[in-house]
Formats: sequence, structure tokens, C-alpha cells
Amino acid sequence: MKKTYHGSCHCGAVRFQCELDLAEGTSKCNCSICTKSRMWKAIVPAESLQLLQGAEALTDYQFGRAVVHHLFCSRCGVKPFGRVHVAQLGGEVYAVNVACLDDATELELAEAPVRFEDGRNDRWEASPCETRHL
Ligand SMILES: [Zn+2]
Repeated sequence: MKKTYHGSCHCGAVRFQCELDLAEGTSKCNCSICTKSRMWKAIVPAESLQLLQGAEALTDYQFGRAVVHHLFCSRCGVKPFGRVHVAQLGGEVYAVNVACLDDATELELAEAPVRFEDGRNDRWEASPCETRHL
């Protein structure tokens, strides 16, 4: 069931709310930035996330083909979400860092299904051979 969650970066400069159902699934990826930032994400349509405060604190980091906007708080460095346009997902979506959801319970997170993506090899639909480190 979809719930409205409230999220923030570490210092609290960036606050947002989003509607999502953790039971519908989350994902972890082995690409260069997800590995280094330990990103654990849930994808939501752009209209399901509202930035409540901190637009001025968000820095947009891009690399490679510059498709994804890797947004992070310029004060504390935490990445609450990224934004990307993916036609197969219906357009503009946010990849919400579920670790930044302040009112997600430990049980909701523990029971959220996790799908693994082989982003390092551009095989987003496939699971990498090794996932235990992700
Ligand atoms: Zn912050």
C-alpha cells in the first residue's frame, strides 16, 4: 500500500515527501556511483515527490553521459534522491534514497524486496553475478 513518507538529508537542509510502496520493491546497483555512495533506492514518478525545503542546498552532480541528476546536499553531502528521464518508466522519475526516509520503519525497510542491477555493465535489467557486497 502506498504511504506518504518524509525524508531528509543528514543536516536537515533538504526535506521532501514522497508517496511510495516499499513492498513494491527497491533496488541496488553495482555502477560506479551507486557502489561508492551505497545507494539503496526506490523509483517513483516525478509527481510523487515534493521537495519541501532546501532547493538551494541541492547540488546536481552529473558524469558520463550526464543522463542522471545525482542530487546531493552541499552542506552534509548526503544524497536524498536522484532524478532521471527514462522513457520505459514513463518519463521523469526520482530514485529515492530509502535510507533518507525518516518515517520508514525498520520493519518496512527490512521487508522491502531488493532487486539488483548490473549497472556497471549497462545491464540494468539483469542482476550482477555477485551482489553480496552491494
Ligand atoms: Zn544536508
